[in-house]
Amino acid sequence: MIRLTDLRFAYPGGGFALNVPDLAIARGERLAFHGPSGSGKTTLLHLLAGLMPPDAGRIEIDGTDIAALPDRARRAYRAARIGFVFQNFALLDHLSARENILYPCRIGAGLRLTRAVRARAQALAEACGIADKLDRKPASLSGGEQQRVALCRALVTGPGLVLADEATGNLDPATRDLILDLLFDRVREAGATLITVTHDHAILPRFDRAVDFADLTGAAP
Ligand code: ADP
Ligand code: MG
Repeated sequence: MIRLTDLRFAYPGGGFALNVPDLAIARGERLAFHGPSGSGKTTLLHLLAGLMPPDAGRIEIDGTDIAALPDRARRAYRAARIGFVFQNFALLDHLSARENILYPCRIGAGLRLTRAVRARAQALAEACGIADKLDRKPASLSGGEQQRVALCRALVTGPGLVLADEATGNLDPATRDLILDLLFDRVREAGATLITVTHDHAILPRFDRAVDFADLTGAAP
């Protein structure tokens, strides 16, 4: 269960401000935010992931207010519990696709690099159709392939909360549907909550709930 209360955030220097008065998301719910470019969708996902603290308000996830955690604790919480698919993938250039997928094992996500984890990474890559590309560096992969590497990395820990920022934005419709099937299957198996942001209205019917960003955010303070 996730609850946002009176959440406020502004980037330094002003310009854009986000204000979410109240939002509750049930455990296991699959929710899609949609809204125009620049409306703050990525900003909200970054706040939910604890990548940056809000200026005010609460972000309760399973009873923990991650907005109130010190930086270190927030990082540890994120690594252990949250899978994040970044809009720009955020892959590490000097690592192979396989090493990128297994990267959560390096950063104290509570995941040891066991044979079982390697097998899980391999299975995810096969399901995504990138198993033959695992020794390549990101620079030699297409955008859609990089996106699938990023998805595998987000799922390899078996997180209870998956946050996906335009996770199918670089894919053709057939690959998009394949990737969404994989994402939904994994989330269902794990009983995980899925929050995605998208401007692709074609995928909204697949979610339990679609929230228009304009309805979510109050007037800027
Ligand atoms: P969306 O994902 O809906 O396209 P974003 O959350 O990326 O929107 O951006 C919301 C607004 O915040 C935009 O006006 C954008 O220019 C601004 N913004 C995003 N990142 C930063 C940043 N690091 N510093 C200052 N402004 C930013
Ligand atoms: Mg965005």
